[in-house]
Amino acid sequence: MDPLSPLEQALHAARALVLADLVAGDVAQADVVSLVEDSVVQRRWWVEQWPEGAPFVAGLVAQDVQDALLDRYGRWPLCPVCGTGDPHALGVEPELGPDPHWVCSEAGVRVAPVGGLARATGGGPAS
Ligand SMILES: [Zn+2]
Repeated sequence: MDPLSPLEQALHAARALVLADLVAGDVAQADVVSLVEDSVVQRRWWVEQWPEGAPFVAGLVAQDVQDALLDRYGRWPLCPVCGTGDPHALGVEPELGPDPHWVCSEAGVRVAPVGGLARATGGGPAS
């Protein structure tokens, strides 16, 4: 077997990061996982057209899944930072760039890197 190409590595990493955040939010049911797979298929096509975009794939898959979940499940991931006010979802920044993070636009804070929500939501060891 050939070693994984950089594009495949980026896609695998994106899939793993977004799945980790879904598990952290306790929404990783089978139909939700299939949303991730759908996004990875589409982004594979996208990154094949534009290989320089490989570092951006994780943020894009996160946003794809967020959009898809809004129809089926509701807002995801809910902001773990703001204790008051209406529940609201985190956003991905940069929308198209490397090293994507979940951010709360209300509080103006970076909550966690994409793939790191478990630590931000108390799923990991406290610091
Ligand atoms: Zn917030």
